[in-house]
Amino acid sequence: MPATVARSRYDWTRDELTDLLAGEPRYRVDQVWEGLYQHGTEPDQWSNVPKALRTRVAEQLPSGLTMATESVSDDGETVKWLWTLADGHQVETVLMHYPDRTTVCVSSQAGCAMACSFCATGQAGFDRHLTVGEITEQVVLARRRSAEVGKRLSNVVFMGMGEPFANYDRTWESIHRIHDDLGLGARHLTVSTVGVVPGIRRLTEADLPVNLAVSLHLANDAERDELVPINRRYPLAVLAEACADYIDATHRRLSFEWALIDGVNDTPRHARELAAYARPLRAHVNLIPLNPTPGYAVRGTPPAGVREFAETLGDLGINATVRRTRGTDIDAACGQLRATHSVEPVTIAPPTRRD
Ligand code: SAH
Repeated sequence: MPATVARSRYDWTRDELTDLLAGEPRYRVDQVWEGLYQHGTEPDQWSNVPKALRTRVAEQLPSGLTMATESVSDDGETVKWLWTLADGHQVETVLMHYPDRTTVCVSSQAGCAMACSFCATGQAGFDRHLTVGEITEQVVLARRRSAEVGKRLSNVVFMGMGEPFANYDRTWESIHRIHDDLGLGARHLTVSTVGVVPGIRRLTEADLPVNLAVSLHLANDAERDELVPINRRYPLAVLAEACADYIDATHRRLSFEWALIDGVNDTPRHARELAAYARPLRAHVNLIPLNPTPGYAVRGTPPAGVREFAETLGDLGINATVRRTRGTDIDAACGQLRATHSVEPVTIAPPTRRD
């Protein structure tokens, strides 16, 4: 992490906060920690803390996220924020209310180096890793907003901007904050990777049973090498081995993400390849029609094609769920809000189309 990235409110560990507040009675540290994590409110609302201390906390532990835009869609069921970080980079967070749960989708990096051709974040390139505090604060702010409409934030998915396993240590520490201090259960936390095998291996050994999702999108190396360039480094056989070891060791369910792209990965052959890959891993498949992005000329599979693809998978014995695209009208596809509203010029890669 470059030294220029200022430490923000949720970067501080409890021990560091204790040192910072040396001289205050010990219970004040507990109250501040409770205000930050259990209540997740602004210091000026902590009525049990003296005003001078609240002011000091607000000054010495500044928020790491300044709202640049907020977009609401799906009748208020989807809220998307674009945040400006202390050094000017921007990241996105999406809050989604469902009948049975409320999920926040968080970013782990500003930008992304994985360069998946269909992804708006990948098209714009990598800026930097997010800090523990910048990741954690996205969850705190989303939870606060949920509470305002009477909903309890129940799930966190690491499916926003960035590749969590390229920023493993900070991501993992933020998962601990979310679990230990914000009190969300490990089964309600999901890390999504493009297939960074060393990260899957570390997760297999990790001390919290969070869920793993792998963004597969193609199940043959020749085509996946092009759409998802990290496949050249960790090809499908290597990825499958890491996934198999993960399942054997953890007995958890694995899921595959598959963004359905018209003519690119939605034919019966693609469904058969996916089924053959997913079956031995007993993986669940999430199908998401591609959200259009400015730098990729191909559109999402039309609804009839999505149904057909899901049926073919079903016939082949694979469990598949079709996910509704959320917030298409507010650019909720990964990286899109930033691409539309960014204060900095965003370079869009030329479209790469495969047939
Ligand atoms: N780097 C991680 C997490 C961020 S992307 C990963 O790849 O899993 C989160 C999910 O959104 C991934 O499954 C990704 O492939 C998908 N995604 C990216 N751009 C998309 C788009 N334009 N339409 C639909 N899904 C997209």
